[in-house]
Amino acid sequence: MIVVMKHGATEEMIQRTARRIEELGLKAHIIQGTERTVIAAIGDERGKEELAACEDVEQVLPILAPYKIASRETKPEPTVIQVRELVIGGGRIGVIAGPCSVESETQIIDAARKVKAGGATALRGGAFKPRTSPYAFQGMQEEGLRLLSAAREATGLPVVTEVMTPHHVELVTRYADVLQIGARNMQNYHLLAAVGEIRKPVLLKRGLSATMEEFLLAAEYILDRGNHQVILCERGIRTFETHTRFTLPLASVPYLKERTHLPVVVDPSHGTGIASLVAPMCAASVACGADGLIIEVHPDPKKSMSDASQTISPEAFAAAMTQCRLIAHALGTQLG
Ligand code: PEP
Ligand code: MN
Repeated sequence: MIVVMKHGATEEMIQRTARRIEELGLKAHIIQGTERTVIAAIGDERGKEELAACEDVEQVLPILAPYKIASRETKPEPTVIQVRELVIGGGRIGVIAGPCSVESETQIIDAARKVKAGGATALRGGAFKPRTSPYAFQGMQEEGLRLLSAAREATGLPVVTEVMTPHHVELVTRYADVLQIGARNMQNYHLLAAVGEIRKPVLLKRGLSATMEEFLLAAEYILDRGNHQVILCERGIRTFETHTRFTLPLASVPYLKERTHLPVVVDPSHGTGIASLVAPMCAASVACGADGLIIEVHPDPKKSMSDASQTISPEAFAAAMTQCRLIAHALGTQLG
């Protein structure tokens, strides 16, 4: 249920109502809106009449969606995520760019400087890599995290990097500004719960074959643990089609934005797997209302130790961002 507090309800009234919700055996999530505060009472509909009759409460509404905290019914205004110069949501389009993997100090610092010059507001780079083959490069691991910190020092860009297991959440949280959950881990519920306990933003990638409902319920695992800073990422899905590495279904962007207040970013690199298709799909993502982009860029794309065929050069990245900026401007949003 959504317990809508009266306009101007004090902190004490809010806390008192939240306590009563918990006493009823429900979970209370306080959501401070710009207009008014609501409390999402997660569980069944027990105590509905009692809460509705409470003098501090305006009304009690059912939440119809299975994902309760992620739903727009609970929080109509968009969630905006901000870390350093990265702003995602509320009309601001965040640009996360960098190599698939951290490979060396020179590579990551060079990449960070170049993507910043081209318009990035955050640096990406995998230190722990989920590779299809156990014989493929698995990432520089903790050393990679240290190099990402050095790149942040050098450029000021916040760092987005993947965490693959609950055991590493504490370690990755020490170095990263945003923790990425990879597509292959979207339904790793212990990992989702573990990043739900931290208080840094999480970029959750859509699973290779996940439905929109499964995707939003995965986000709900993180939100339910109290971490409300979740960014959804459409990165393409498996279909019968083989002309691209994955199929990038951009209708999911406006669809998600109708149903959730969480920001939605698009990954056209993994979504296509083909470098020449990245720029047009960046443009299309901005055009359909994406709140951000995550793009693989390497100082020397052919030499990328992972995902070389979908990686673009800093020059191609800068040109793509110039085009995206124009599209954003036409739509009344702002890139970067
Ligand atoms: C990545 O961003 O490098 C990555 C492995 O992405 P995904 O989990 O979407 O395949
Ligand atoms: Mn990659």
